[in-house]
Amino acid sequence: MALRWAAASSWRSVATRVAAPGTVVGLPEVTLGIIPGAGGTQRLPRIVGIPRAIRMICSGERVPAAAALEAGLVDQIASSDLRATAVAHARQLRGEKRLMRERDVPSTQSAEVGEATTAALKAGKRRPAVLAAIDAITATAHVGFDDGLADERAVFQRLRVSREAFALRHQFFAERDSAKHPSLDGAVPRAVELVAVIGAGTMGSGIAISALDAGYRVLLLEQDAAALERGAARIHAHYAGRVQMGKLNASGAAVLEARLQTSLDWAELASADLVIEAVFEDLGVKQQVFRRIDAVARPGAVLASNTSYLDLDAIAAATSRPQDVIGLHFFSPAHVMKLMEVVRGQASAPDALVTGLALGKRLKKRPVLTGNAFGFIGNRLYAAYRRQCEFMVEEGAWPEQVDAALQAFGFAMGPFAVADLSGLDIAWRMRQAATRDPRARYVHIPDRLCEAGRLGRKTGAGYYRYPEGGKGPQVDEAVHQLIAQARADKGLQPRELGDDEIVRRALLAIVNEAALLLAEGVAERATDVDVVLVNGYGFPRWEGGPVFWAHERGVDALQDDLRWLAGLSGPGFVAGDLRHLLTTEN
Ligand code: NAD
Repeated sequence: MALRWAAASSWRSVATRVAAPGTVVGLPEVTLGIIPGAGGTQRLPRIVGIPRAIRMICSGERVPAAAALEAGLVDQIASSDLRATAVAHARQLRGEKRLMRERDVPSTQSAEVGEATTAALKAGKRRPAVLAAIDAITATAHVGFDDGLADERAVFQRLRVSREAFALRHQFFAERDSAKHPSLDGAVPRAVELVAVIGAGTMGSGIAISALDAGYRVLLLEQDAAALERGAARIHAHYAGRVQMGKLNASGAAVLEARLQTSLDWAELASADLVIEAVFEDLGVKQQVFRRIDAVARPGAVLASNTSYLDLDAIAAATSRPQDVIGLHFFSPAHVMKLMEVVRGQASAPDALVTGLALGKRLKKRPVLTGNAFGFIGNRLYAAYRRQCEFMVEEGAWPEQVDAALQAFGFAMGPFAVADLSGLDIAWRMRQAATRDPRARYVHIPDRLCEAGRLGRKTGAGYYRYPEGGKGPQVDEAVHQLIAQARADKGLQPRELGDDEIVRRALLAIVNEAALLLAEGVAERATDVDVVLVNGYGFPRWEGGPVFWAHERGVDALQDDLRWLAGLSGPGFVAGDLRHLLTTEN
C-alpha cells in the first residue's frame, strides 16, 4: 500500500507499506473521543509493541516517515516515484503475505507497560477514550485477534455516540471554521522572511522563539541594553534546555540561534518584512514606538502590536500607514500557547491581515480573527468570567473552592490561581485608570489584596500563599479574614455556594459575554469563542467550549439561567441576546 497520509487504523492486513517522504503516520481517533475502530488497537501493538502503541494511540501522535520506517510502521520510503517504488516493492515479495494478524505481539516487561499506561492516563486526563484505548491495546497480550477486533468495534460504537465525542467533534469543526474568513477572500499574504520583534521581555522573547522555530530570521530590538541581554539570554537558555531534554540536537539549536540578531539600533528595522511590537502595555509608549517604526520600516512591511487591551486604531493612528497595522495578540508563554488573536483595525488592509493569519499558521498556532474591542475576544470573555468568580467569593465562596470547582469541571487552573500566576497588579492598574459606573457592582477584594502587597506569586502571596521552596499555592487564613472584612463592610451575609452553582454561573458569564461580542461583531462566528477559550484559556477541550455547552442547555433554559444570573450579579450586569448566539449559523 502506498501512503501519503495514513491513519493506520484503516489498514487492512496488507503485507507491505511504501510511503512518500512527507508521509505522516498516526492514529488520531483518541483526540476525537473515540478509539481506532478498524483494527488499529489490535494491529499496531503487533508492529511496535504494547508500550509504544499506548503512547501513539493515546496521544494521537503523528509519526513522520523516517521515524515510521524505523518503527516498522512502513516498509520503505519512496525516494522518487511512489507508485513505481510500491509496485517494485510488491513484486519483490513474490506474492508472499505477511499478515499482521498472524504476528505475535512482542513480549514486553509489565513495568514498561505500566509506565506507558500511567503516563498516558496522566496526559490524557483519564478521559474515557484513553482508558478504552489502553484496555483494547493491552488486551492484545491475551485475547486473540478476532475477539480483540470485535471488542474494539463494540467500544468504538459506544464511544462514537458519547457526549465527549460530540464535544470533541464540535471543537474540531470549530477550529476548522475559524480558519475561514470570507471577508478576506482573495487577499494574498505579503512575503515575510525577516520578523522584527520590539521589546525583549516575557512576550518578546517568546515570540522570537516561536518565529525562530518556524524558520524565520528574527531581529530582536530593545531600547535598553540590559533588557536586550536578558531577552537574548532567555532565548539561549530555552534552546539549551531543549538540547538538554533531547528534544533538539546541539547543531539544530545552533542553526536556529544563528538566525537571531539582536540590536539597539532602530535603523535596522528597515529590512524587516513584519514588525511585532511587544513593549509595555501603555498607549503613549506604544504610540511612540509606532512613530519610530513608521519612520524607518520599509513600505509594505506589516506592523503588528501584541497589545492585550489597547485600542489598535489609536496605535495605528500614530503611523502614516494604518492600513499596514494589525494586532497579533500572543498568549503567555508565547512559544507554547496555541492561540493567537489577529486583530482587525478599522483601516487594516486585507492582505496585512492574511499575512498575520499566515504567520500564525506557520508558527503552528491557532490564529483567530477578532475585531478591535477592549480585550478582543479572549480577554474580554475571561474578564466577565473572572468578575463572576469574584462575585461568588464576595457572596460566600472561598477562592480555593471556586478554583477547585472549576478545575474539577476541567479548567487547567482555577481563576484565582491564574490571577496569582499572572500578577494582580496589571488588572489593578487598569482598574485605577478606568472610569466606571458608580452604580455597578464592584468587588473590592482584589484591590485590597494589592493594597496589602499581595500581588500574586511574584510577591509570595496573592489569593494564596506561596512559601519559599517552590511549594504550590497554600490556602491563607489572612485572605479569608480580608474577604470576610470586605463582605462585612458591604453588610453582606455570606452564604454557601455549591460547586454546581459555581460552574454554572462561571459558564453563563462567558456565554453571556459571547452573545454581546457577537452582537457587536467582534467575533466572526459563535464557535470562535470555543476555539479561543480551549486554545488560550485552559477550557477543557472535551467539554466542547461554552457555546457547545450553551447549545446543549437550549435557549429556554438559558434564558431562565440568564435572568437568574442577572439577579445574582446585581447592578451593571448587561444581558446579551442568547438567541442571537444560538441561532448564529456556526
Ligand atoms: P515585559 O515588561 O516583560 O517586556 C516589555 C519589554 O519592552 C521590556 O524589555 C522593555 O525594556 C521593552 N520596552 C519598553 N519600552 C520600549 C521601547 N520604547 N522600545 C523598545 N523596547 C521597549 O512585558 P510583557 O509581559 O512581555 O508584555 C509586552 C506586551 O505584551 C504588552 O503589551 C502586554 O500587554 C502584552 N501581553 C502580555 C502577556 C503576558 O502574559 N505577559 C500576554 C499577552 C500580551
